[in-house]
Amino acid sequence: MLDELNQEIARCTLCEIAKHRTNTVPGEGAENAEIMFIGEAPGWHEDQQGRPFVGPAGHYLEQLLASIGLTRRQVFIANVIKCRPTNNRDPLPTEIQNCRKWLDRQIELIKPKMIVTLGRYSMARFFPGKTISNIHGTAVRQGDTVYFAMYHPAAALHQQSLRQAIEADMKKITSVLAEAESTPEDEPGPQQLSMF
Ligand code: URA
Repeated sequence: MLDELNQEIARCTLCEIAKHRTNTVPGEGAENAEIMFIGEAPGWHEDQQGRPFVGPAGHYLEQLLASIGLTRRQVFIANVIKCRPTNNRDPLPTEIQNCRKWLDRQIELIKPKMIVTLGRYSMARFFPGKTISNIHGTAVRQGDTVYFAMYHPAAALHQQSLRQAIEADMKKITSVLAEAESTPEDEPGPQQLSMF
């Protein structure tokens, strides 16, 4: 199923940046992953290889995953947009909108128990109106899914204070997931899970 979706993504030409891509970068990982990490957009390395998070930020993400005993094959890693923005600029609102359906379909297929947003653009999709410095490391449950916001690994890599924060936030993931699984879902609407 994911293969078919990936092929559809590879044929997408909705945005101008599609003309400049080497590869689409749909995302990769376990089709039945419990945890889905969603970053921002492919960079140069990702565009070259057609795989998410394979440059320096990706190596750091792998270290973060290892700190909680996970490998990238056990989770699913995707981005808000599937083509590399020219010169690594920030994604445009139209690009995020055009790509929204692909991310929605990935989430529908994988049905993760937990969605971890990496950085502001991914956070904005699931925590509209929030500020990352306020909500990183906190989780909200909506329906069957728990959403957890983290800084982007590329930002944290070079800034010591963010690095401490992302490493501490990563270590909360296992307990947030366990808490979500053990707490009955009693109220419709957002339910704040963990304020650490
Ligand atoms: N940064 C992202 O947001 N995504 C990638 O795939 C790589 C770097």
